[in-house]
Amino acid sequence: RAKGDGRGVHRVFTAEMLAGARTRKQLEDDLRVALTNDELHLAYQPVVSVGSGRIVGCEALLRWRHPQLGQISPADFIPVAEDCGLIEALGEWVLRTAIHNATMLPGNIRVAVNVSPIQFGNPGFAAIVANALANHDIAPDRIELEITEGVFLRDTDSSDKMFKALKGLGVRLALDDFGTGYSALGYLKTAPFDKIKIDKSFVRGAINKGNRNAAIIQSIVMLADALGMETTAEGVEQQDEIELIRELGCTHIQGFVYGLPMPLNDFVEQLTAQGEAAPPVGYKISRAP
Ligand code: C2E
Ligand code: MG
Ligand code: MG
Ligand code: MG
Repeated sequence: RAKGDGRGVHRVFTAEMLAGARTRKQLEDDLRVALTNDELHLAYQPVVSVGSGRIVGCEALLRWRHPQLGQISPADFIPVAEDCGLIEALGEWVLRTAIHNATMLPGNIRVAVNVSPIQFGNPGFAAIVANALANHDIAPDRIELEITEGVFLRDTDSSDKMFKALKGLGVRLALDDFGTGYSALGYLKTAPFDKIKIDKSFVRGAINKGNRNAAIIQSIVMLADALGMETTAEGVEQQDEIELIRELGCTHIQGFVYGLPMPLNDFVEQLTAQGEAAPPVGYKISRAP
């Protein structure tokens, strides 16, 4: 089986396939089945601290191996799940599986989990997170929930409440894909993020002279620093980009240069190779609860 299943191996999900309503409906049905049929798994991509050069965490990324179509990108099927109401069940599976698998990793390794704005907009979401945490012996600050600017298009009173409830549980919060949404900066006045993830579209090309991306990254870092937030540069692919990102002041790097999204076993191996403490006694890779 290919090592890492992040790049290149996704089946391109073509516009024609999405165009036909029947195909879309079919895909919804397939996705429903996927949840109970063991077709989903999580891949883990390393997050490296710029200061130490060591892996300090990972992002859990959802993978779907469709029995006929092969790997389908989450960029294609997450929107389908959001449209047809499946995202809540899917998101809860991701959360429970990621938390369960986090207990298989050394205690200093954080695990980031993507949360759809639809999940975040459910008043019961904090209780779902609390419940998933309660089932495991894990420090809540090892779990980092990644949300996008999409949540700010919704009612601010209820999102304020949700932020408070989640911080109350002790989990960390990251603002994903920063700079790609439509929201104003106003939400940074109050939203209690621990980290801003700078979208890969800013990292791409930042190394080139005359490109504005480096200046934009630097400004985001200054903003985040002033607000006491960490910054992860996403999509770092080349060695020379690591040096640039360091100069621009980001605290963390995530990108193919340090590893593709990979099966949990491979991620554990990579941690072992960097000399992390062995996983807890009784360590064994197991399926989601
Ligand atoms: P994201 O949360 O911004 O995740 C990072 C994406 O960038 C991942 O794509 C990852 O494979 C890709 N990436 C990482 N490093 C590099 C790099 O160096 N170069 C390039 N070109 N790409 C890189 P992936 O896994 O295809 O996921 C796409 C998006 O799907 C995610 O973007 C996230 O928005 C969504 N997604 C994935 N899993 C979940 C999930 O469990 N729940 C929800 N709600 N959304 C998810
Ligand atoms: Mg993310
Ligand atoms: Mg992102
Ligand atoms: Mg994204």
